[in-house]
Amino acid sequence: MRRKLVIGNWKMNGSLAANSVLLRGIVAGNAARNADCAVCVPSPYLAQCQAELAGSTVAWGAQDVSAYAAGAYTGEMAASMLQDFGCRYVLCGHSERRAYHHESNELVAQKTHAALDAGLTPVVCVGESLAEREAGRTNVVVCAQLQAVLDVLENPALEKIVLAYEPVWAIGTGKTATPALAQEVHAALRKQVAERSPAAAAKLQILYGGSMKPENARDLLAQPDIDGGLIGGAALKAADFLAIVHAAD
Ligand code: PEP
Repeated sequence: MRRKLVIGNWKMNGSLAANSVLLRGIVAGNAARNADCAVCVPSPYLAQCQAELAGSTVAWGAQDVSAYAAGAYTGEMAASMLQDFGCRYVLCGHSERRAYHHESNELVAQKTHAALDAGLTPVVCVGESLAEREAGRTNVVVCAQLQAVLDVLENPALEKIVLAYEPVWAIGTGKTATPALAQEVHAALRKQVAERSPAAAAKLQILYGGSMKPENARDLLAQPDIDGGLIGGAALKAADFLAIVHAAD
């Protein structure tokens, strides 16, 4: 039985003062026993997370990582640096990074590899655009995104990743994939991993992301291949985030 996992993606939101209220609210209200939760915050606030969340039931992580270990890469953050601040997770290939920073499937795969090398859990994000869905290319697109990662990982490493299916047309738009539609893609992704390693596929946590909120979380999380959520907007209010974590529980 896979544990459920709910991760908040704060994107580029927050301040020291606001984060403190939010983090304390999440820690105080998290009563989940059968679900794990984490927040992926802007990197300047990782030290604050380490101070506020250490010893709690809430893990933390970053939203991006360099594919390189160290060196002349101005503005980048090495996986080892994220480790220094106690991160457990790092998002790799969020659609906003693919779109605005031109991250290719291959670069996302290299970042995933770098995260694993440093002992972090990469949360590999895949998802199709509206045009791709309307053209009937959803599975082709997400499977190509996943395949680039499968191509650079050996089987033991494959067992340590988390996958997030985030249809781009559902992110921040208020439009959510129906549970059946999301389940169909999750099942296709798990099947693709199973072709390489049935053991990794059975363990793999596949999160759904895209306007998940307290009102729709329960139905999405009830699907057999939906193992949690990657939450954007609803992760910025402790009550909403906790309601999703408790739905997962
Ligand atoms: C996200 O940014 O990963 C996300 C799912 O955002 P939202 O929940 O706001 O759609």
